[in-house]
Formats: sequence, C-alpha cells, structure tokens
Amino acid sequence: MTPREQRGLIIAATCRLHRNDDGTWRVPSQTNPTVVFYTVNLETKVCTCPDCTEGGFVCKHYHAATFVHRRDVLPDGTVIETKSITLSERKTYKQDWFVGGMLEKAFHYFQFNKDEYLNHYHLRSNVESTFSAVKRKFGPDVMNRSEAGMVNEVLCKFLLHNLTCLIMEQECLGISPVFWKDEPQLEALPPAVLNATN
Ligand SMILES: [Zn+2]
Repeated sequence: MTPREQRGLIIAATCRLHRNDDGTWRVPSQTNPTVVFYTVNLETKVCTCPDCTEGGFVCKHYHAATFVHRRDVLPDGTVIETKSITLSERKTYKQDWFVGGMLEKAFHYFQFNKDEYLNHYHLRSNVESTFSAVKRKFGPDVMNRSEAGMVNEVLCKFLLHNLTCLIMEQECLGISPVFWKDEPQLEALPPAVLNATN
C-alpha cells in the first residue's frame, strides 16, 4: 500500500464521504474536513485537490472514495447507507413494586435474617480477591501434568499464601507469635494422652 493509499484509507475510515447524484464523490479535506471538500471522479481518476490538479498524482481522496465505493456500493449501483442512531430508553417503576412487592419482601427477609445474610456477605468478593492474590504472587498456572499433581500444587500455593498472610500480619501488627515448641509440652497434650503417660 502506497502512502497515498494509506492516507486514503484513513479518510475513508474516519470521514463521511458523500456520493453525488452524478456518481462523483464528495471527499472532505484532511486538513480542514468540515470546510473544504474535493470532488473525485472515480472513472477518470480526477480529483479537484491541488495534489491532483497541480501535481498530477492519483491522490488520497481518490483512494478514499475507492475504498468507500467498494464498501458501500453494490454491483447494481445501489448505495448502502450507514447511519448511527442513538437509542434512549426510560424506565419507570411503579410505587407498588416497593410497597408489598419483591423488594419489600426481600428487605424484610433481610431484616429478620440479618445474621444469615451477613454470614454470606462478602464471601464471593473474598474468594475472588484471594484467588487474585495467589495468582499474582505464585503465578496463574500450574506446572504439574497429572490431575493429582495439579490439585496438590494449587493447595500448596494456598498454603504458602496463608503463610505469607500470617507473616505479614505478624510484622504489621507487631505480634510475637507463640509456636507449639515454645509452649509447655504437657499443656498442649490432650487429656487422653496425659492419662496414658501417667
Ligand atoms: Zn484529491
């Protein structure tokens, strides 16, 4: 594609070309597209712009008109009109949708079962953000080929994620953790084991 063809393609893609009744095309100037227009005759390859009239070149306006012609004119000469329309829709909800309607039922159900709602609230967003954190930290893919290997690898990633969270909170909140090793051994053992050793 020559530079003039490329510029013609840009004009065809970004400007509105008008097909005159005599079959010529009205092509907007690229430098002043709302004021200056040139007339292109596709059959004689002539345009009214300086590039064509003075320089004798096959100009970008000719190429633009050619692109639009190929796109919009059917073999029998009919022109495909492309129009963009804006649709706007107004929705009004009647008052009784709230009073005694589904929303009111849901609202009261929420009020009476607040604990159950709050137990589930944020579950999904928590899951999503945990997945996201694990993927960012340990990568989005698994290296194992087998099904069991993949499951174990993912479980390990979550184990590591939990550990990093634990360490981060420990550092951020200034907590000095007590591990099992630090505790007196006897207190940590369940009563049954204690009886057996006694
Ligand atoms: Zn031209």
